[in-house]
Amino acid sequence: MLVVMKNDATEEQVRAVIREIEKMGYRGVPMPGAQRTAVCIIGNKGPVEAARLLAMEGVKEAIPVTKPYKLVSRETHPDSTVITIGGVKIGGGEPVIMAGPCAVESEEQALTIARFVKEHGALVFRAGAFKPRTSPYSFQGMGKEGLKVLAKVRSETGLLIVTEATDSDNLAVVNEYADIIQIGARNMQNYSLLRLAGHLKKPVLLKRGFAATIDEWLMAAEYIMSEGNHRVILCERGIRTFSDNTRNTLDLAAIPSIKEASHLPIIVDPSHAAGRRDYVIPLSRGAIAVGADGLLVEVHHDPAHALSDGMQSLYLPQFEELMRELGRLKLFL
Ligand code: PEP
Ligand code: MN
Repeated sequence: MLVVMKNDATEEQVRAVIREIEKMGYRGVPMPGAQRTAVCIIGNKGPVEAARLLAMEGVKEAIPVTKPYKLVSRETHPDSTVITIGGVKIGGGEPVIMAGPCAVESEEQALTIARFVKEHGALVFRAGAFKPRTSPYSFQGMGKEGLKVLAKVRSETGLLIVTEATDSDNLAVVNEYADIIQIGARNMQNYSLLRLAGHLKKPVLLKRGFAATIDEWLMAAEYIMSEGNHRVILCERGIRTFSDNTRNTLDLAAIPSIKEASHLPIIVDPSHAAGRRDYVIPLSRGAIAVGADGLLVEVHHDPAHALSDGMQSLYLPQFEELMRELGRLKLFL
């Protein structure tokens, strides 16, 4: 249930409502809006007795929330959320391009790619220092040394950094270095990791699990938000289907579905969806055309020698072409 406060409700009245909700055995999360504050009730298993709350000073109305997720729901937060990080706005209308290699391999590799993607319009540099690999024998990432390289990329280029935390052991150090903490597809339902990320102050990029429904994905975001971190960016990266022409199947319908169900920004990763670089530009066009708030794209200056995901990494000139095409697409949207 959402308790909507009157326009002129005082902070003390909001606090009193939260205390009353706590007395009922639930939690009340204040959600300040442009006009008025609402308090979202979480932790209730069934319907909430609204009369007690409606009788309180400053309370305008109580609206039942029909969805299992609350804080992520557009029902509780009709305006789209815009996440601002160091001057970059995600969800603010202009698609944000996050680009870089799958993994940090060396300082020279990261800086070469970062300088190029920055020059052509990327605002965020992506690269994993901790890599969740299907095989234990594959390159697992440079770890903390990789994070130090990413810090250098940020200071030299001014790009923001998104990089993945793969478990609760490396979450703290990733939080130290990253501007956006990525939680990967394999961890989308790692609820203890989600809760820990919910205690952090940095935005979280939450990728969709290979076999997750939209509701399961939104419930995963709810885990993060219910711990207090409301800055969640969703990322569609393809799901498992019977179709085997691509590594995964990009679910473009997820973008309008998420936009309807949730106020959170959503971006698209066409690289892990396709698994092959020649499909990345067409899928990117599609993603932006259906309303994605940005892209997460793998780019490498020498994909043939990349230590991971070379097949799906764009060559540098292809990234330039992608940005040119997106510019043209903007003229039609
Ligand atoms: C990645 O972005 O490098 C990655 C491992 O992605 P996913 O979790 O979507 O497989
Ligand atoms: Mn990758």
